[in-house]
Amino acid sequence: DSYISAIEAGNDKLNAYVAVTADQAREMAKASDAKIASGDNGMLEGVPLGIKDLFATKGVHTQAASHILDGFKPEYESTVTEHLWADGAVMLGKLNMDEFAMGSSNETSYYGPVVNPWRGEGGNKDLVPGGSSGGSAAAVSAWLCAGATATDTGGSIRQPAAFTGTVGIKPTYGRCSRWGTVAFASSLDQAGPIARTVEDTALMLQSMAGFDPKDSTSVDMAVPDFATAVERGVKGMTIGVPAEYRMDGMPDEIEKLWSQGLEWLKAEGATVKDISLPHTKYALPAYYIVAPAEASSNLARYDGVKYGLRVSGKDITDMYELTRAEGFGREVKRRVMIGTYVLSAGYYDAYYVRAQKVRTLIKRDFEDAFNAGVDAILTPATPSAAFGIADQELHADPVKMYLNDIFTVTVNMAGLPGIAVPAGKDGQGLPLGLQLIGKPFDEETLFAAGRVIE
Ligand code: GLN
Repeated sequence: DSYISAIEAGNDKLNAYVAVTADQAREMAKASDAKIASGDNGMLEGVPLGIKDLFATKGVHTQAASHILDGFKPEYESTVTEHLWADGAVMLGKLNMDEFAMGSSNETSYYGPVVNPWRGEGGNKDLVPGGSSGGSAAAVSAWLCAGATATDTGGSIRQPAAFTGTVGIKPTYGRCSRWGTVAFASSLDQAGPIARTVEDTALMLQSMAGFDPKDSTSVDMAVPDFATAVERGVKGMTIGVPAEYRMDGMPDEIEKLWSQGLEWLKAEGATVKDISLPHTKYALPAYYIVAPAEASSNLARYDGVKYGLRVSGKDITDMYELTRAEGFGREVKRRVMIGTYVLSAGYYDAYYVRAQKVRTLIKRDFEDAFNAGVDAILTPATPSAAFGIADQELHADPVKMYLNDIFTVTVNMAGLPGIAVPAGKDGQGLPLGLQLIGKPFDEETLFAAGRVIE
């Protein structure tokens, strides 16, 4: 009841929820009460969560924040949310996001932008919460839920977590099932939690993760005990510091935060090692070929026939065209056009195949670092703190907006786990985050080291 009241009081301003399922939440909570009373409660019994609008929730609003999915209520539940309900969690509603998870500011949503609950000292303008999981991050940060599901294709869990002073982990590709999660770029998409502490994200991921025969890319491996990993400490760990992440023109405060994070880890017994990830500079351009290519293919299914919006035309081709023209927003159209172009016969080898080769090189850079004894890598999570809504410069040049993902996309390209942890504030008192990158399926080390930094 207190979370529902908080949503009623705060959501008009923040626009974090696109649907509130108060009746359902109260019913689920009642069932949780009974389970707790009888002692057969799950690990998340009664914990009220918000769910990103990208996850299919049976009979409940699921539109990936797009006009083209108007009125879509799936007949099925995503595997990740099914796991959460099986462990007793309670659904408060569906959270705003960038349309089809394409964006870094939550401004591409059909439902309008989400407002960051943080404004900074003397701040007189609304800031973005980051994206694409902006609703998830804002809701957690403003206490409109105890934790939230999110997804990360190129940074969409870690960047909004950093912008809102929350914790977000993108697990290893294959750790969580993608079944029932609306696809953006299938070889990069991973679900994960955003919550207030490292421990809360560990508990949520414990529930969300696990093999699923319905997703051929989910990995058949036991889920470790993440809660105990949180307490493990960093004694004897080697933390890599990649030279290539020290970008020209990086703000001083980010530089300082990074050094501070290393000091904290050293003080707890970790060793710091300089490393090189030489292909880092190609990650962003390669990502913005691979992700739109896969998106253009995944989004072909929205044709006005099976789901959501249909705009009638004089024949079926006309209907497809009118539906897609009206149903997709500008950023989604841009991605579909880029993706179709790079996959077209004359350009496939020059762009798509080449980007896939670059991806292999990026993955090898990380393998080399880990093989040389590095346990985890520490970097800034974002190149700046949260920026203003409707920032003229960023909107005039989409490539500038894409630069927000500079520290996060490499991790998706290599399929590795990455966690963003709040580590300090900028000059205006806005939260800043650090990122830890781990070996495949070694989220435990990220929880242990993340706990030392938070
Ligand atoms: N900002 C990136 C993009 O727009 C990443 C989005 C995401 O991780 N879903 O593609």
